[in-house]
This record gives sequence, structure tokens and C-alpha cells, in this order.
Amino acid sequence: MRNLILRTALLVALTLSTSAFAQTVADATAFITQAEKELAAHSVLSSRANWIKSTYITDDTDALAAEFGARGTEMSVRLAKGAARFDSVKGLSFDVRRKLDFLKQGIVLPAPEKPGAAEELNVIATRLESQYGKGKGTLDGKPINGSDIEDAMGTTRDPDKLKEMWTSWHNNVGTPMRDDYSRLVTIANEGAKELGYVDVGAMWRSGYDMSADDFAREMDRLWMQVKPLYDQLHCYVRAKLHEKYGANVQSATGPIRADLLGNMWAQQWSDIYDVVAPKGVGDVGYDLTALLVEKGYDPIKMVKAGEGFYTSLGLPALPATFWERSQFTKPRDREVVCHASAWDVDNKDDLRIKMCIKVNANDFVVIHHELGHNYYQRAYNQLPFLYLNGAHDGFHEAIGDFIALSITPEYLVQIGLLDAAKVPSADKDLGLLLRQAMDKVAFLPFGLLMDKWRWGVFSGATKPADYQKDWTALRLRYQGIVPPVERAATAFDPGAKYHIPGNTPYARYFLAHILQFQFYKAAADQAGWKGPLHRCSFYGNKAVGDRLNKMLAMGSSKPWPDALEAFTGSRKMDGSAMIAYFQPLMKWLEEQNKGRPCGW
Ligand SMILES: [Zn+2]
Repeated sequence: MRNLILRTALLVALTLSTSAFAQTVADATAFITQAEKELAAHSVLSSRANWIKSTYITDDTDALAAEFGARGTEMSVRLAKGAARFDSVKGLSFDVRRKLDFLKQGIVLPAPEKPGAAEELNVIATRLESQYGKGKGTLDGKPINGSDIEDAMGTTRDPDKLKEMWTSWHNNVGTPMRDDYSRLVTIANEGAKELGYVDVGAMWRSGYDMSADDFAREMDRLWMQVKPLYDQLHCYVRAKLHEKYGANVQSATGPIRADLLGNMWAQQWSDIYDVVAPKGVGDVGYDLTALLVEKGYDPIKMVKAGEGFYTSLGLPALPATFWERSQFTKPRDREVVCHASAWDVDNKDDLRIKMCIKVNANDFVVIHHELGHNYYQRAYNQLPFLYLNGAHDGFHEAIGDFIALSITPEYLVQIGLLDAAKVPSADKDLGLLLRQAMDKVAFLPFGLLMDKWRWGVFSGATKPADYQKDWTALRLRYQGIVPPVERAATAFDPGAKYHIPGNTPYARYFLAHILQFQFYKAAADQAGWKGPLHRCSFYGNKAVGDRLNKMLAMGSSKPWPDALEAFTGSRKMDGSAMIAYFQPLMKWLEEQNKGRPCGW
């Protein structure tokens, strides 16, 4: 997670000037210059307000951050509206046209010009988000809040209790949102049309340097590349669930019951790793948390290790202010937001992370991930304001995750955490790979269908009366899962997932999952790695660092294929690297699944 300023402005009232007074190339250029100046100035103040709100929560810091949020929204609205005035101006330079497009795409839900529309959209969106936040399911008939029910879905192994939690959550949280959501779609679509897009879905898909239709096809192409791996994982996990729960709960064939996978949305399955882990393969051979404790690591030493990864690639050390201004541990005397994030407060070199680091394996990985955002931010800090971003919205997360993938046993040896003699033999890797696949591979169809559903809703292909039916159909088609109980046509299961009421586009997460493996394989190839891909360490490889930095330094200034090519040599996103990474697991799964009727 990183701190986004410009691209997250949610609600926008567009008061489009339809009076067609002539706009010139010079007007457009001047408009962009002014916009970047304004945005940059706002961004620094807004970051400061948000930083202190997140690291010292009081009514006052909340109010200040809210004030800057409101100003930011107002600014995004005005600039999107202004940018749309230049739609028909011919002869604009590449940069001016690109920046105008970014300004138009800087809003997620545009409201149309007509009186009251912006207010209504704002009220609905706020209500949806707060309904989600306050949402409760039940366990044993007693109310249970969102974060507790999420945890309980991961630890409970009683199918009746799982069914109760799943059903109550979807009924209580999702169903009441249905009418509001359909109204929101109608209003935002009108706004998107006024900005020159066919509908909101097309507007979201327009940020990828290709047509909205081509982007939808690109998502499908990537999915087809990785689907064989998902199918094998699905087949294996279904068999294990059938063994554990019996045919009355989980049939040996057909789809998997959605509540049995350890996650409310069946989007990541590693919480039920214990259910599916085969004997002798479940143990990864070493315990990173224990190693960190044993070697006397504290939070600062963990961050230094993370920095060391990047400096080993030839990237510069973090600035002194990073160490002075970051929040590394949870303060004893005040409320803070512990959720990990990376910041670049002045858009130059005021880099920070905000975490509540504990000495454990998970936080060690998260540190490497967050610093990926910081190094990306720093690499592009010379660019104009509107280019201070990832090459597309999947890149930033993919960078952090790609570095996190590099925390291999070989790397742990190189930094002195693990004794070379204790590097586990390759047969131990299956457990590690299986657990990883249960998060990263299991996520793919969910990451794909979230926006597939919304694209259909925004385009009108899915009518309000079919919201539920089409959602369930997509879940079956892509994930191969079914609800534990019959769903009424009036239910609204999509609303039970935060990013739907929260109106956060989701394709970026799917892309980040694909790209992180593509980056990792590119680094391995450049380092001349010969062993199994998932064991590669390119720690200390300055040639890899050089090429990586070329991609990072481009920010969003060029179409993303240019950035991708700078590092990987390829202009196409490619799911085959993920397949290569999980090759030993794929082979093992195919053996395990022999004789089983895979598919659903
Ligand atoms: Zn992140």
C-alpha cells in the first residue's frame, strides 16, 4: 500500500462548460502548467496533514486532513472539467495530451453537471462506505464486526459456523446496498459521458495506453495464460476439502463451497493451508521469525536490511530524514494508523514509511515491499508532477511484491540470517510454493471478476435485476465456487466486498499479481540464474539494479510498454513467468490430481 494523492479523488461534480469557445494548443499548455503547479503545492500540504493524522489521531488532525481532502477533491473536479475542454483541440504535444488524460482520469466516480447530482452521488457513496464500515455478521447468533469476522473465517473449521458467518455477512452488509448502488451507477455514468467516456467502466479501462476494449481483452489473455495453474490448485484443494469435510459439505466434483476457503471472498486461501498441506511437505525447513529473533534484529535493523537490498542493487541509501521522520514502531501514548504505507511527502526526497513493526517474518517482507514504493517514488522524482506515478496502476504494488518475492533462502544466507548449511532441500519448497500459490494464484480469478462485474454493470449489460445472478455466475465461471446457501435474486453479494461500496477499481491488483512474477523472472534472467526460478536471489546484482532503475525513473511519463521494456525487454505483460515460478508445484499438483476429474 502506498499513499496516493491525486488519483484517489473520489467524488466529482463536473460543471462542464458546454459553451464552445475556441481552445488553442497554447491554452492547453498553459492549463497544464498551472494545474501541475497547483497540484504540487496542494500535494505537499495535504501529505503533511495526512501524515500527522495517521501518526497522531485526534479530532483536530482528522479535521485538518478532511479539509485538505475536500480541497483536493474540489481541485480534481475543476481540473478534470478543465481538461475535458481540450478534447477536440488538434495538434497537442504527446505530453500535454497525456497529462490532460491523466487529469480526466483523476476521478473514480464523476458526477454530471445537473443540479443536485454531485450532492446525491456524494451522499450515496458516503452511505455505502459507512454501511460497509459498520457492517456486522453473526457467529453463534451473536454480532461480530468486519475485521473479527474476517479473522474468524480464516481460523474456523466448523462448516456450519462458516456458513452462518458467510451468509449473515453477505445478507447484512451487501443486500441493503442494492438500490443505492444502482442509483450510483446511473449518476456516475452520466458524469462519465460528460467527460467523453461511454460509461464509468470504459473510463476506468482508459488508463492503460490502449482502447477500453483492448484492455478488457488483455485481461482475458493474461487470465488464460495462468488459468491452467489455477485449475490444478482448485482441483487439489477441492479434494482436500472433500477429504476433511465429507461429501455432504464438499462434493468431490463441481465447484468449491465459497465459505470453506478460509476467506470471506475466497480471494486468498493460505489461511486453510493446514487443511491442505500434505504431510512432510508442509514444513518449509526454517523459521524466519525465529532467525530474526535469534540474530538480535530490532525494527530498525529490519528496515536497514530492507534498505540493504536496494543499495546492493546500486540504488542510493535512504536520506537521513527517512530515519528521522518515519514511524517504525507503534507509539505507546497515542492512537496511530498501523496499516503499513510508504510516503513521499515533498515529492522529492522526504521519503518515509509508516508501520508498527514487530520482529517477525511477515513484517520483514512488508518492509521490503514498502521500500519498493519509496525507491520507485525517488527514482521518478525529477519528473513533472503529473508523471509522479507508476507506469500504470498495477506497477507500484508489483514492484514491492517483486522485491518481496526475492526473500529466498539464498538471500537470507547472503545477508547472514540463515546458515548456508541450513538452506532447505528442494523437496521442502513444495510446501512454501503451495502456501504462496494459495494466496497469489487463488487471487487471480477474483482479481479479474471484480471489475468484470462492474464493467458489465456500468455498461448496462448487467441490469439491476441481474446484479446478484451475474455476480454468482462470474464467481462460478472464474473461481469455480458457489455460495453455501441459495442466494435470493434480491441479494447483493458484491456489496459485501469493500472495494465495491468503496468504489476502488480492482484490475490493478490482478495486473500487479501478474507483473511481480514477470519482473522477478526478468531479474533472474539478467542475473543469469540457473536454478529453480523461485530460489533466485539477485541481491548485489548492479546490472539488474541499473535496468530496474531505468523502468522506475520513467514514472508514468511514457506508455507503460516502454517502461516494461526498459526493465524486462518485453512490451507485453506476460503470465508465463508466474507459470515458470510455480513449475515445481504445477508438476506436483498434476501428480496429486491424477485420476481426479478436475474442473467444475
Ligand atoms: Zn503496497
